[in-house]
Formats: sequence, structure tokens, C-alpha cells
Amino acid sequence: MSIHVGVLGGGQLGRMLALAGYPLGIRLRHLGGPHDTPAAEVAELMVGEYADPAALARFAHGLSVITYEWENVPVAATRLLAEHAPVYPPPAALEVSQDRLNEKTFFQQLGIDTPAFAAVDSAADLHTAVAALGLPAVLKTRRLGYDGKGQVVLRAAGDAAAALEQLGGRDLILEAFVPFDRELSVIAVRSVSGETRCYPLIENQHAEGILRLSLAPAPRCTSELQKTAESYALRVLDRLQYVGVLAIELFERNGELLANEMAPRVHNSGHWTIEGAETSQFENHLRAILDLPLGATRPLGWSAMLNLIGGFPDTRAVLERDGAHLHLYGKTARPGRKLGHVTIRAESPVALNHLVGELRDKLRLSW
Ligand code: AMP
Repeated sequence: MSIHVGVLGGGQLGRMLALAGYPLGIRLRHLGGPHDTPAAEVAELMVGEYADPAALARFAHGLSVITYEWENVPVAATRLLAEHAPVYPPPAALEVSQDRLNEKTFFQQLGIDTPAFAAVDSAADLHTAVAALGLPAVLKTRRLGYDGKGQVVLRAAGDAAAALEQLGGRDLILEAFVPFDRELSVIAVRSVSGETRCYPLIENQHAEGILRLSLAPAPRCTSELQKTAESYALRVLDRLQYVGVLAIELFERNGELLANEMAPRVHNSGHWTIEGAETSQFENHLRAILDLPLGATRPLGWSAMLNLIGGFPDTRAVLERDGAHLHLYGKTARPGRKLGHVTIRAESPVALNHLVGELRDKLRLSW
């Protein structure tokens, strides 16, 4: 008999959750818009509004558990749905992650290091914040920023007025600019029963605010760094009595880790786990929310995940490379859009580096 899981959202993350569910007899029902083809191609898609209680009730009918695949789902919808079936991760995790100021304050309360920050709701606040944090600094909207959108780097005091105006003048956060050595992420998972597991740290390379390449396990990682990242993740999981997969994006600076943001969902930097770990983040998310035993998070060699953005590769050219795994999401091409990814594994970071160079050429990646 199948178990039915509901997912708010029908993009590529929902699609990969659905694909991970099939072998376990888990079927997914997505609630989304008519253009959510990635999920609709492989699972049931119910088209409806998150603000419509009747649509939510229809969606929830017969579901064992409900989850979501993007963090800007309205919290009110998850609270309504929680009257029909358990919603995981808990809506409180959404509330924290939807507001950068709450999120950084939450990290601080848990003793998790972050870049220095201050709330900005006026020109006077910005002036005070710049004096306290120094320049350069990053001014961001508290809500709805993604892939580098909704943020401006201030390099000189004269940049302040225009940046403030550009971002709407209030509900902002100023952060000290961190000259990081690299960006990392940690992905952890906690089940309904409280079992937790953590994947190895991942190194992430961005261009134009969009993730391009993830390397896992992150090369040149000490066990102390891994321990610190795991302790950050465990603190968040524990405090929120979290259920499901959680990702925290980090800056590494002189061997220290500063938390930038968290995503209460499966994460782009975890796509390598489909072929590169004993159990994928997608399967572990489903296991966690259904209170099944979690799968091992052990890496299988060294993996690289390259995002396919804005255009499709030549499938034949990718598949020619032994061990290259191509994932396409069923989307139409648009500049800046994530259309798919390729994962490849090697026996060592050096061998992996070589393969990544080769794939970048094959895929004609320009970053
Ligand atoms: P975010 O939307 O907060 O994930 O930021 C997008 C990207 O901007 C990050 O992946 C970093 O590359 C960069 N960035 C964000 N905040 C800072 C910061 N405080 N210092 C330096 N770079 C940052």
C-alpha cells in the first residue's frame, strides 16, 4: 500500500523528492501553480492557491504528512494544514528562515557565530549601523531575497542613500561584509523520533549570486570544522524540535564558520547525495518526516555537482563521460534558470578536480 505525502511547491526539489519516494512505495501530491511541470511530470500536481482554505483541505485529504520544498510558503497555510496532518519541518522553522533578522538573531541565541549585523528601518538606522559595522557591508531585505537578489554591497558612505532607496527604505538588515575564504554548507536531518544524521561539509562556488558548483566532501576540511558545522546544525534541529532535512549556508574565514542563512528544506548543495552518498537528502527527508529509520549519510568517494543554468547541455556529450549523471528538471530554458545538474564522482579530490575541468568544457560553462 502506498503512503501519501503532500508537498507545497512543485519545482525541481519536489520532483527529486517524488523520485526518491517511488522505490519506498511513497507517493507525492504537490500543491502548486499550473507551471510546476518539474513535479507534475513525475507525481500528482494539484493546482491551487496557498491562501485558499478549501484548496488546502482538498490537498490535505488522505495525506499522512505534509512538507514543503521552498521556504517562502506562507506560514499561515502550513498552520492551517497542520489541522489536517502533521507538517514538517515545523512551521516555526519557516518563520525563522523567512526573515533574515530573526534568523541571525536566532543563530546568535544558539551561540552560532554570524557576520555582525544590525536592523535597518530608516536612514538614521543605516547611518548608525554603518558606523558600528564599518564598510564594506551588505544591505539586504529581511524577506524574500534569494540568489543574491534583494541585496546591495555598500563600499563607501556615499552608497548608502541609493541602496536604501533601492531596497525600499525599511525592513532591512545590514551585515558586515565577510571576506570569506570560501562558502560551505552543512546538511543535517532529524526524524520524528529525534534520530539525527549529518552529511559531510560541502564547498559551494557561486557566480552572479547563483550556485554553480558543489564539492563534497569539501576538500581540505579538518575534523574540527566538520564538528563545528555539525554542532551548529544540531543546535538548530534541537531548538526547533525540527523534523526533516535542514541546510545551513556558512562562510569559512580563517578556520572559523559564520552562519549566513538556513533553508528548512532539501537544498541545491545537497543534490550530489543522490549518487555521492549512501542515502540521498531526498530519501532521508522522506524517511525523517515519516518517522522511518534514517539512512547512512556516508559519502561514496568525492563528488562534484554542476548546476545547468539558462541552457541545456548536449546530452550525448555529458553521458559520454563515464560516471557522469545527468538530471534534467522538465523546465523550459530561461536566462538564470536552474534547468538541471550533473554529478560526477572520483576517488580523490585531485582526480575530481580534473573531471570538473573536463565537464566544464563539455558543458561550455562560462563561470
Ligand atoms: P544570501 O542571499 O544571503 O545567501 O547571499 C548571496 C551571496 O552573497 C552569498 O552566497 C555570498 O556569496 C554573498 N554574501 C551574502 N552575505 C554576505 C556577507 N555578509 N559578506 C560577504 N558576502 C556575502
